[in-house]
Amino acid sequence: MPSETAEDASYECPVCGARLTVEPPLPPHEAPCPVCAYPLWCRKRTVDDVVVLDVMRGRTPEHAEMQQVAEKLLGSKAPLRVVVDLSDLDFISSALMARLVALNKRIRAADGRFILCGMQPVVRDAFHDSTLHRVFEIHADQQASFAAL
Ligand SMILES: [Zn+2]
Repeated sequence: MPSETAEDASYECPVCGARLTVEPPLPPHEAPCPVCAYPLWCRKRTVDDVVVLDVMRGRTPEHAEMQQVAEKLLGSKAPLRVVVDLSDLDFISSALMARLVALNKRIRAADGRFILCGMQPVVRDAFHDSTLHRVFEIHADQQASFAAL
């Protein structure tokens, strides 16, 4: 279990690693990464060797954009442990769920761990209604996710 709390780590672009401000300018879809222009849908933090992706509300990544993040994650040498925090979302599109299924598959195929956490009731219902919750490892929040790793 990582010693550092997730809050201590800084935010990065999930693709190029550029440092991001804690609060992105709004609206999110007008906030590409200032360095690589990747259209941000999440911010990355690394806590010990656990990658935390904080999903931002209001934007669903295109398939290719999710693949960019997957390639970046899979390019790291450390064993992959990824925690995706959905707590900012008060709604989740079926497209975003499908992207997360794809990312989950790729990380697991590389013997990585992939955890979803921070689901609000509406989001949790969406996963259960589609039975997609069965394909994910899901924990209540980041703390519970780190404890499970
Ligand atoms: Zn970037």
